[in-house]
Amino acid sequence: MKINTVNGLVDSSDLGFTLMHEHISVSSAGIPHSFYELMDRERVVANAIECLSVAKDEGVNSYVDVTTLDLGRDMEILRRVGENVDVNIIVATGIWLDIPRSILRVNPDQLAKVFIREIEQGIDSTSVKAGIIKVATSDEGVTEANEIVLRAAARACKDTGVPISTHTAALSKVGNDQVAIFEEEGVDLSKVYIGHSNDTDDLEYLSGLASKGCILGMDHLPGGRGGGLDWKQRANVIIELVRRGFQDSIGLSHDYSLSYPLRKDLEDERNDYNPDKICFISRKFIPYLIEMGLDQSQVDALIIKVAARYFG
Ligand SMILES: [Zn+2]
Repeated sequence: MKINTVNGLVDSSDLGFTLMHEHISVSSAGIPHSFYELMDRERVVANAIECLSVAKDEGVNSYVDVTTLDLGRDMEILRRVGENVDVNIIVATGIWLDIPRSILRVNPDQLAKVFIREIEQGIDSTSVKAGIIKVATSDEGVTEANEIVLRAAARACKDTGVPISTHTAALSKVGNDQVAIFEEEGVDLSKVYIGHSNDTDDLEYLSGLASKGCILGMDHLPGGRGGGLDWKQRANVIIELVRRGFQDSIGLSHDYSLSYPLRKDLEDERNDYNPDKICFISRKFIPYLIEMGLDQSQVDALIIKVAARYFG
């Protein structure tokens, strides 16, 4: 199966080591083009090229950028970065938590058409096509606006075969609410990645989602900043799920935005916490999984095979 990336089509079997949920640059709808002084675009591009080149040297071959309209998706930046790195960058259609109020005035079919156009024709004025559909549900659960987005994503997924990636509040188990809607819509759940699933160690909740065929996005790594499970606890949950036979249902990522609007103190604090940025998994996390008993084929299932199956 051919997958849309910033630089054209790539076969799903050639994705290789894939970071399943990341961001090159995050802001808000309208910021990149209207309030552009808040972003230093040249710095964003240079920083992304540098970070992705280092990651490539450490084995990363594909990078899923799940930045939507309401997270300040900027096609010019994504395209410039894509032209300058040897990493497949998959970009997203869909809507995250900042759902524009006007979405309440459209129906799921109307919104699905927009997602399908971004998948089949291109995003903004570019010919770059979306390779993934992003949606998000907070701990409030499925709101009226969120339900429109979830149903639209389901219909676009069924129409195009492009998979869905979700943001969840895992402690509130909202992955179950998302799956209930996708099941109602008749989505193939092997095309559904339930993101931020490693914010909980509730094995019953996680095994339930994996048993239905969903992929568990273990994508807050290292995670734990400001509380919550630390990264070794997150690793232990994965190891237990692998022992239970779910090694083909787990994807890894950092959910690390390479750039934010200008606020250097925040950026410094974040980099102090995770100096490895998008190389944390290759430098610290995988060695720890192996030290704790996983073998290389089990690790390859998490970082290579799962992406090939999900996108394929
Ligand atoms: Zn994210």
